Amino acid sequence: MRILAVGGHPDDVEFQCAGTLAKYKRLGHEVAIAVATNGEVGSPSLGKKEIAAIRKEEAAAAARTLGAEFYWMGHPDEFLFNNESVRLAFIDVVRQARPDLVICPNPTLDYHPDHTTTGQIIWDIRIMVAVRNIQTAHPPTPAIPEIVYMDTVAVVNCIPNKFVDISEDIETKKRMLACHKSQEAWMRHLNGMGCVELMESFARMRGYQCGCRFAEAFVIPAYWPRTAPKDGLL
Ligand SMILES: [Zn+2]
Repeated sequence: MRILAVGGHPDDVEFQCAGTLAKYKRLGHEVAIAVATNGEVGSPSLGKKEIAAIRKEEAAAAARTLGAEFYWMGHPDEFLFNNESVRLAFIDVVRQARPDLVICPNPTLDYHPDHTTTGQIIWDIRIMVAVRNIQTAHPPTPAIPEIVYMDTVAVVNCIPNKFVDISEDIETKKRMLACHKSQEAWMRHLNGMGCVELMESFARMRGYQCGCRFAEAFVIPAYWPRTAPKDGLL
C-alpha cells in the first residue's frame, strides 16, 4: 500500500500523523510526504528566502528519517488558494506519489487557512487525479485514492472516528519533529513550549481517549464506496 501525507506547512505532517506513517513504514508500506507551502513567514528574525530554505531542508531531513519520498510544493506561506493552477500542482504531486490513501488536514475543523485549504484541495482533486483528460506532467493515477483527515492542531474541535496506537512509534515521531529545529525555536518564542513537548502531550491525550499510551486521531470522511486495502490502521 502507498500512503501520501500532505501538510499545509513544513512540520504539520510530522506533528499530526508521523507516528502513523512510521507504523505504516514499519509494517512494510510505502510512505510519501508532501508540503504545500514553503513556511517563509515562520521566523522572528530571518527573511523569507532564508527561512524557506531552512524549512525545506528540515522537512526533507524529517522525511529521510522515515525513508519517505518527499515533495516540496513551495506555495507561499499564509497565501495558499484553491484555484486552477494550485489544483493542477496538487494533482501532479498526487500523481507522482500514486497513493492508495491520502492523509490531509481537515477542510472544515482546523484553525489555519493553509491547513483547511490544503484539505479542501485534496478533497476537490481526489477524483481528478485519475482522470486522463486533466493533463499534468505525470500520468493519471491507476485508481482514485481514499482520503483520511488528520487531527486538528492542539486536538481542538475534532471528534475523531479513528485512532491509531503509535506507542511503538512515538520515538520515531519525536525524531522527525526534532528535525524542524527552526520551528522548535519559533514555538518556544511564541508559546514558551517546544514542538516535541507539545506533540507528546497531545499524543498522550489521544492515547488516553482510546486506551493506549500514545495515539494519533483521525476523521474518516463520509463517502462511499471506499476501496483502500484493509490493513488495520486507517
Ligand atoms: Zn501548519
